[in-house]
Amino acid sequence: MTTPTTTTTTTPATTTTTAEMTSHLPAVGARPTVTPGTTPGVAAGGRPAALELRNVVKEYPGHPPVRALDDVSVRIDHGELVAVVGPSGSGKSTLLNVMGTLDRPTSGVVSIDGADTSTLSDRRVAGVRARRIGFVFQQFFLLPGMTALDNVANGLLYQGVPPRDRRERSVVALQRVGLGHRLRHDSNHLSGGERQRVAIARALVHEPAFVLADEPTGNLDSKSTAAVMDLIGGLHDEGTTIVVITHDTAIAASLPRQVAVFDGRIESDSALEGATS
Ligand code: ADP
Repeated sequence: MTTPTTTTTTTPATTTTTAEMTSHLPAVGARPTVTPGTTPGVAAGGRPAALELRNVVKEYPGHPPVRALDDVSVRIDHGELVAVVGPSGSGKSTLLNVMGTLDRPTSGVVSIDGADTSTLSDRRVAGVRARRIGFVFQQFFLLPGMTALDNVANGLLYQGVPPRDRRERSVVALQRVGLGHRLRHDSNHLSGGERQRVAIARALVHEPAFVLADEPTGNLDSKSTAAVMDLIGGLHDEGTTIVVITHDTAIAASLPRQVAVFDGRIESDSALEGATS
């Protein structure tokens, strides 16, 4: 699938840099925990969904316009681990951009942790994105020449978190991803799998409502892929909400919930199948 290949994504109304995507405000509230017995896709105790799309349409201008998303509705609750899976051209990148508030839909509603972003200014949406979403990309997007610790701490740099807190929180995040022994390593000297762990730590350090992981194993060998998927499974067990966007049906099948996208529509959602059977 196509993912942002440059550090800048231009949207109709805003310009979003990777630094903005990965720089974060301090956490709001406690990190969600999994409610035992929670049915995927079903609200737990009335809490707003981590992410909800209602009747989302995305059209790219042209003659005729391209309808990349066609009436997409999906709800992802706190504590879920969900695969969004589909072949090339199915609309995954467009869905990632809309879910991540990097691009606005043509119509429909995107709510993050109960906040309807369609009613918010671009500035407010950028704030919601920074505080409530963690991004992981296939290409890692680490800053070369900086340590693992600084790469993660950088995610909190513009959020008013004092330097000492930034460091402490980054150490904890790196320990969570199994890199407590690599804090001072230059990111250039880390393996691909380790780089992706650093990127995951950076996505987690501000305790977002959910993590959007775009083909997180796309640049990894099979051993590192297994390790990163194990890590993602472990983070889910701890209560982290994660959406993995992938074209890889084997990876999707290994996750608890699969939302299959085809031709800009949701072709199937295993959570809904489970609810009706
Ligand atoms: P995927 O990530 O699954 O490969 P995309 O979201 O990139 O799918 O694309 C979905 C559809 O939208 C495709 O038909 C693609 O050609 C079209 N598309 C994507 N981006 C644009 C764009 N900027 N302008 C016009 N059409 C686009």
